[in-house]
Amino acid sequence: MSESLVIVGNGMAAARLVDELAKVALGRYAVAVIGDEPRLAYNRVLLSSVLAGETASHEIELRPADWWRDRGVTLKYGCAVREVDVGRRELKIANEESISFSKLVFATGSNPLRLNVPGVELTGVHTFRDSRDVDLLLTLAAGKKRVVVVGGGLLGLEAAYGLAKAGAPVTLLHLMDRLMERQLDVPAGALLKSLVEKKGIKVLLNASTSRILGENRVEGVELNDGQRIDADAVILAAGIRPNIMLAKEAGIPVNRGIVVNDQLQTGSDGIFALGECAEHRGICYGLVEPAYEQARVLAQHLAGRSAAYGGSVVATNLKVSGVSVFSAGNFLGNDGSEAIVLNDIRRGTYKKLVIEDGRLTGAVLVGDITDALWYLEMIRSREKIAGIRKDMMFGRAAALQVAA
Ligand SMILES: Cc1cc2nc3c(=O)[nH]c(=O)nc-3n(C[C@H](O)[C@H](O)[C@H](O)COP(=O)(O)OP(=O)(O)OC[C@H]3O[C@@H](n4cnc5c(N)ncnc54)[C@H](O)[C@@H]3O)c2cc1C
Repeated sequence: MSESLVIVGNGMAAARLVDELAKVALGRYAVAVIGDEPRLAYNRVLLSSVLAGETASHEIELRPADWWRDRGVTLKYGCAVREVDVGRRELKIANEESISFSKLVFATGSNPLRLNVPGVELTGVHTFRDSRDVDLLLTLAAGKKRVVVVGGGLLGLEAAYGLAKAGAPVTLLHLMDRLMERQLDVPAGALLKSLVEKKGIKVLLNASTSRILGENRVEGVELNDGQRIDADAVILAAGIRPNIMLAKEAGIPVNRGIVVNDQLQTGSDGIFALGECAEHRGICYGLVEPAYEQARVLAQHLAGRSAAYGGSVVATNLKVSGVSVFSAGNFLGNDGSEAIVLNDIRRGTYKKLVIEDGRLTGAVLVGDITDALWYLEMIRSREKIAGIRKDMMFGRAAALQVAA
């Protein structure tokens, strides 16, 4: 009989793990996936395109129902796991129903951060994490509601863009002195701001929200400097927190995320975690590529093969049409690194390549991202770049032609 393997969470990491397991260990496990959201696993990354009206919600499903069935997966969705009993190898879902497991995988993702300010509980304060949020935001935009988006990272920018495109007047508040400061340096952040403003979004930097105003529902936002912005709704996009509560309550060691080793094993035997809820070597990733790399390793491990996850080089792409932004690796550089920079503000183009020890270690591109994947590949492979150094700034075609 197959060994029982239960995956908690029916998101992107879980779907990829099932996919990888089917390739290397089909039939070895009786797999059950239990997910809180009331629909089949979908591509969360594409929620921004759904909000922007560029993709229909039904098109983002990762796999149809028969794909799961064909792989013998028991799928429960619209169903939250409430408790895990590690000792009894059992978990509880709604109605106190119990499910037993031999091996367990946490793939519970993250929750949006709630700001710790007065007014955050008012009606009209929303987040941008799942497809129910998108339905709500689209209703706001259709009603031409005035929206304040808090957070000028990838998520906040994509929320602001989608809402503005759908017709809502949008103000974007960002605490820092530049947009996407975790991915962009100062000139790239400044260029991005001007490109975003051209999309009709009002951007306020160094804007610290002190409270959300209103009696029962949102009427505006007040900043620390006393400035007030009238609004009918507030979207919080100021970060995420790994969803670790279930694991923590089960006594599994957690830090910011559920702590895992190179085999994605938690501190508890036969219990694993991957994706945004996991913390590997002190890092909780907030992107999908690391989750996919982890899924590959975990499937190999569960198949009894030797495999180890050594961490990921992350890259970010902003999905705002007409505003191309890419960032990867150590884009700020260190004391020992050099940077090649092309800054053509009038053409809306900025490129920075960071080189250390004869290798490309980071890149920022705004405007033209044609060669983004080529740069990313070079960063990941750590190959020496001496032969193409002087031409690589002009892109793959130019550099390889000269090298040939
Ligand atoms: C709008 C948006 C745009 C994004 N754009 C990008 C991008 O451009 N590039 C990129 O790399 N990443 C992007 N991301 C992040 C990316 O979507 C995540 O990194 C990825 O979804 C992580 O996969 P996961 O499976 O770990 O978590 P999730 O996909 O969040 O899945 C976790 C699932 O677990 C469920 N769950 C939680 N607790 C329980 C429980 N107790 N019982 C049952 N189920 C539970 C949740 O409901 C959820 O469905 C974006 C995210 C959003 C929201």
